[in-house]
Parts: sequence; C-alpha cells; structure tokens
Amino acid sequence: MKMKAATLVEIPKGIKVVDMPVPEISENDFLVKMHACSLCYTDVKACMYGKHFYIALNGLPWVPGHEMAGEVVAVGDKVDCVSVGQRVAVAPFNPCGQCPPCKLGSHRFCYKAPNSFVQPGGFAEYFKVPGEGASLRTIVLPETVSYEEGALAEPIACCLHAIRKTGIPLGSDVAIIGAGPMGFILMELAKADGAARVFMIDIDDQRLEQALEFGADEVINAAKDNANQVLRLKTGFMGADVVIEAVGTAETYQLALELARGGGSVNFFGGMPSGSTVEIPSEMLHYQELTLTGTSSFSPDDYQKALKLITAGRIDAKRLITHRFDSLDGVLESIELSLKKEGMKKMILL
Ligand SMILES: [Zn+2]
Ligand SMILES: [Zn+2]
Repeated sequence: MKMKAATLVEIPKGIKVVDMPVPEISENDFLVKMHACSLCYTDVKACMYGKHFYIALNGLPWVPGHEMAGEVVAVGDKVDCVSVGQRVAVAPFNPCGQCPPCKLGSHRFCYKAPNSFVQPGGFAEYFKVPGEGASLRTIVLPETVSYEEGALAEPIACCLHAIRKTGIPLGSDVAIIGAGPMGFILMELAKADGAARVFMIDIDDQRLEQALEFGADEVINAAKDNANQVLRLKTGFMGADVVIEAVGTAETYQLALELARGGGSVNFFGGMPSGSTVEIPSEMLHYQELTLTGTSSFSPDDYQKALKLITAGRIDAKRLITHRFDSLDGVLESIELSLKKEGMKKMILL
C-alpha cells in the first residue's frame, strides 16, 4: 500500500510530497492515520539547515513533523495500550523506562529514545509508532478534544517541562523573551502556575499586539526601547522574578540575565546551534545569585499533563492555530510563512 508524505529531499526547503510505502508494523508497533500535525520551528530549522539528529543519523530524505494526532488503524499482536479505531495523540519519541537515565526518572536522556521516533514522521498520511512501552507516549483523546488540539499536546509539553523545572512562585513577575507560539504557551502556563504579571518582550510590534490579545500584562519592544530599563521601571526597580528566554540567540540569552532580579531565576528555553557559546558576567552568578536552568523537550509525564490541561480547558490551545491546510502541500507553505514570522501555529489536517 502506498501513501503520501511531505519529504525533505534537499537543504534548504527542498520539500516534496512523494509516494512511499505505508510502514509495515511488527508485533510491538501500531499504525496511525494522521489527521493533524502542526509545524514546529524545529522542523523549519531542520529543513533550512539540516540540523536534526535524525538527519545526522540517517541523512536525507527525511519526513519532518513531530506534533501529531490521528486514528489507530492497525495494531501489532503485543500492543495492548490502544486498539483500532481509537483517536490518539502520540509523542514523537518514547523513553524505554529501563536504561540508567530512565531508571533515575530522567526520561529526557533515555539512551534508546532517538531510535523510537515515529516513522517516517508526522507529515505523512500514516505513521508507525514503533517499539515496546508505547503507553508512555500515547494518549487516547477524550471526545471533547479534537485532533488538532491533540497535536498541540507536544509543544505544550515542552513548555510545561520548562515551567515545571523553573517554578513560578505565586505572585511572581515573569518576563518572557520571544512572542512566538512557544512564548505564548509559556505565558499561559506561567499564569496558570501563579504569575502575577507576564511581560512579553519581542522586537516585532505585531507579535506584541497579539501578545496583549492573548493576555500579556505588559509588552516591551526591545528593538525600540531599552528592555531592561522599561522592565525595571515597571517592577519597582526590581527586575523579573523569573525570566524565560524563548528565542535562542546570544543577545537574548544575555538580555535574559539582565532582566532577572537579584536572586531570581532564568530558564533558557530557546535552542541555539550546537557549538554556540554565551558570555555570562560572573557577577550575575555570584553576586546576583541567579538560578539558571535550561530545558528542552519533555518527559512522558509532561505530555500526559499537557493533554490534561487541554482537556480541562486550562489552556486554550486552539487559538494558537492561525493557518490550517487540508493537504501535505501545506507543509512547504507553512515553512515559508514561519520564515516570514507570519502567524502562529500552522496545522495540516487530513
Ligand atoms: Zn515541537
Ligand atoms: Zn531509557
């Protein structure tokens, strides 16, 4: 049986919708018909620069997409966590639960997780969920949760991972650098976690306007104003209790440190290319006593909790979706839109 998949055949942006065999499943796998998959900026970077662990391991062609939901259409004999016909959200990878990091609860660092990626990827008509222990990565969607909301469990889980690790003390002033989709989710979660005020910082007025519509208490355009000065004026010269950097540049990493109050904490959420370095003034660490954390990706627990927040209506995931496409041709268009910083989440719905 054949299917279509949006496939990266060359760097940059060589995305073609091609025919390929529907993945065959063995006794521990199951097969999902994709109904919703959203584009992540990680996919955009991979398609522009080839920076993705899977491309590093296996080269091209490669099928991007890792935020997906769909209907189970076939299950292996040993799979007992799902059955045919169920609507599911599936995390892109699965920790084994058995290796040394997994046994310490550090699922993020599972030795085997990179081999558990869905195949061939999310932007395909069907994808295979390989291996044992699929129950950790799979959530059966409640009737009230749509496929597109299910797909958004993945980016929300990444943000949840950051918020849980950083911790937002009740009544905090939180500054978030980067008013993109992840910045917006972080804002919503920071409020749910007890932030008194969230300051959104970006260099794009349009995005900052959207941030206000989405519930930001204050916005600062760092291209026009001295963000640190403005923030200090609005916080009684304190600075932010918690700063989350969601851009991933050396400048914004440094800005994040400046914005934190003495004794505050900073989470570096935005990824930079490997090998990048950032200079940190030593007084920030010593005299300012900042707590620095970094987060990337999420654990199965974050994924489950993300979907619980969506189901309970505690996070309004749908409003992040600005573009919907009903064919895989929309993948390339979505990438073009993201490169132009147009819109928020782009969703392929099949
Ligand atoms: Zn993602
Ligand atoms: Zn493991």
